[in-house]
Amino acid sequence: MQTFDVVIIGGGPGGLAAGIMMSQVGKSVAMIQEEQDSYGGICLNRGCMPTKSLLKAAAAYRQAKECEKYGLDVVAQPINLKRLQAVTQNDIATLRAMTQTMVTAENITTLRGKGSFASDHDIIITQTEGCTEQVRGELIIIATGSKPVELPFAPFNGKNILSSDQLLQNTELPSRLLIIGGGAIGCEFATLYNTFGSEVIMVEALDTLLPREDQEAGKMLQDAFTQQGIQVKTETMIEQLILAEDKVTIHYKDSDKTDTVDKVLVGVGRKPNIDCLNLGAAGVQTEHGAVKVNEFFQTSTPHIYAIGDAAGGLMLAHVAEKEGQLLAQNLSQGTTATLNKNAVPRVAFCHPEVAAVGINHESGDIRSFTMRQVPNGRSVVDKVAPAFVKLFINNDNSEIAGAVIIGEAATELIHEMALAVENHLTLEKVGKTIHAHPTHSKSVVSAVLHAS
Ligand SMILES: Cc1cc2nc3c(=O)[nH]c(=O)nc-3n(C[C@H](O)[C@H](O)[C@H](O)COP(=O)(O)OP(=O)(O)OC[C@H]3O[C@@H](n4cnc5c(N)ncnc54)[C@H](O)[C@@H]3O)c2cc1C
Repeated sequence: MQTFDVVIIGGGPGGLAAGIMMSQVGKSVAMIQEEQDSYGGICLNRGCMPTKSLLKAAAAYRQAKECEKYGLDVVAQPINLKRLQAVTQNDIATLRAMTQTMVTAENITTLRGKGSFASDHDIIITQTEGCTEQVRGELIIIATGSKPVELPFAPFNGKNILSSDQLLQNTELPSRLLIIGGGAIGCEFATLYNTFGSEVIMVEALDTLLPREDQEAGKMLQDAFTQQGIQVKTETMIEQLILAEDKVTIHYKDSDKTDTVDKVLVGVGRKPNIDCLNLGAAGVQTEHGAVKVNEFFQTSTPHIYAIGDAAGGLMLAHVAEKEGQLLAQNLSQGTTATLNKNAVPRVAFCHPEVAAVGINHESGDIRSFTMRQVPNGRSVVDKVAPAFVKLFINNDNSEIAGAVIIGEAATELIHEMALAVENHLTLEKVGKTIHAHPTHSKSVVSAVLHAS
């Protein structure tokens, strides 16, 4: 049986970040990755990257359709989803190759198969053909990510009731698509399919899209979606989906109205992927369906750690990656670094983009300042909607405690606000910083100056 200083289960952004750093400090590292994904995990294979590749195509298509406003004549032909998917698969293959090169260069031992605990130091790896091998780790890191949540009345069937994994494989444009769930994943797919030409219905049980974010921002996004022709139904529950002849009929709670669609995306959230790990054999406890960890990512078994989606919390690739880096730093340098959850950017790459960081509600110490349509020269010449910028400001010292931005490049602009939140920068400090002209970044500094 092979023995390693560190055995990592799961090669997503969390596992990779930890593995690379541990290997760089001279530890022997083995990484176990299920055969269904390459390294890069859900993020690279079935999450962040394929959606962004398709969203780039959608943005190009939208611009082609709207190019008259730039004084150009371009005829946008109907979408061929098969071709778009082929381009996306090509992007993914490039990213997989880049990741594999990195793993090989770092001397990380690759073990393919599903890992589960045999004891608190031993992992059994089972391959799809049923072969098994066992490895031993001085330290073990659980980085097994998450999986889509299923609705009891709408189990995934891979045909017309789909998870995001399954919709990402789809090559036929549905004429009508229902998206259940108004979170970031639902909003990104709504932008994709609406731009490609499907009729999209979005259903969200709570009162705004992106319900965990600022309400005003959620309502702004809903208005923008509605203007684009997406039917957004908030405060709406679905009672039943009836399947007949390749169609799905939606029955809403407390309503006689029904709708019929070709496909349904169930995008109501994700849950930690930990059921097959046999955690009991290692004495690792769970809490709320996730691996229970302390602020240093340590489980109830001191030499076993958990990071990323498997440990719950904010299920984002950059959180998993940062946790992997902080854990490796703590293990190799004896530090006690923790994740500053408050400074994590939260982004949705829909159209318009929405990005937030830090506090997202007013309280005794925190006031808000909103500019709904920030005047900006770049927005005019780019012919895009002016940005919405809302700031949350500490009353005592004018520190920026949070922000939400909607509009062009919001998912890039948010990082200036993340820097401010992480480093307790005041309105004055950010306002003093010179921003290049003409840029969308100037919308952020305009809001900061107006708030001062
Ligand atoms: C459609 C979609 C879009 C997304 N877009 C974004 C985005 O734009 N930005 C963002 O920040 N986040 C996004 N996310 C979330 C992001 O993908 C996750 O937060 C991130 O991948 C979590 O990283 P991780 O390292 O915890 O695990 P993962 O990336 O989930 O990787 C875990 C890997 O472990 C493997 N594994 C699981 N169990 C075992 C086992 N027992 N043995 C061996 N291997 C195992 C899995 O197959 C998987 O490949 C998106 C998610 C989805 C579904």
